[in-house]
Amino acid sequence: MQVIKKIEELRQVIGSAKREGLVVGLVPTMGALHDGHIALINQSRGNGDFTVVSIFVNPTQFGPSEDFDRYPRQLESDLEKCRAAGVDVVFAPDVSEMYPEGFGTYVDVQGITEIFEGAFRQGHFRGVATVVIKLFAAVEPRRAYFGMKDYQQLKVIEKMVRDLNVRVDIVPVPTVREPDGLAMSSRNVYLSEEERRAAASLYRALITAKKAVDEEGIADAETIRRMVESVLLAEPLVQIDYAAVVDKETLQIVESVKNGAVVLLAVRIGSTRLIDNMLIGVSDK
Ligand code: AMP
Repeated sequence: MQVIKKIEELRQVIGSAKREGLVVGLVPTMGALHDGHIALINQSRGNGDFTVVSIFVNPTQFGPSEDFDRYPRQLESDLEKCRAAGVDVVFAPDVSEMYPEGFGTYVDVQGITEIFEGAFRQGHFRGVATVVIKLFAAVEPRRAYFGMKDYQQLKVIEKMVRDLNVRVDIVPVPTVREPDGLAMSSRNVYLSEEERRAAASLYRALITAKKAVDEEGIADAETIRRMVESVLLAEPLVQIDYAAVVDKETLQIVESVKNGAVVLLAVRIGSTRLIDNMLIGVSDK
């Protein structure tokens, strides 16, 4: 496994892999790797890709009062996990390599970035889209892997790729969860023991929605939203940023889940912000 910090060197290594006829897969991450990230890597490896994992805590996607400084950074143990997972190249640039002096071009995906996470985290998706297009330009992957855990992010990247005619297949990967259902996240380490217990309510709320549709045949989206909200409100440590039942593609609020929908959740528990989601009313997940 090669560990590379410079874009120029990355280009050379990827260039020779491509000349050997290998297909390049990219897994963009911010590090502090867990089994969710490993699922993306496994999917890439399973597709036979020459697998490139980027590890970069991207400053432009954090707001001024967010957790950029305290975000967990653990490159050595991340590299071990990547080695064990059979990664070919880790790209771990410094901030100055990605954003050199004089940098001034950003990607603004419209519409879908203005709601939910975009409304609560001003500028977040602009930072995400910008770093992802830069990673695509540096790696030129055939496939790129994104977790469904960050559902809105996945939709933003799909739209960017469509709108800008980027030649890459976006591969969505299902959310990996802890035994009690909490979606794995690098931010879970911020939770105290008591907060960690409270965090399981997100999954309970999502499962309540899924069962309401699958087992009780409820199709009214507002009824389902209220059920989700009441599970969350029963947990005193949880403060809801949003709980919504939306269209799978446009993320607009729906009235009925008959054709499938997604429940989007964002909550704060103490000083930690957690997001999760679940597809409902569809057979494939
Ligand atoms: P992050 O390092 O948090 O920016 O995440 C990097 C990638 O891993 C993103 O595409 C995330 O959606 C994905 N990811 C994070 N957590 C999970 C999880 N629990 N299950 C599946 N994918 C995940």
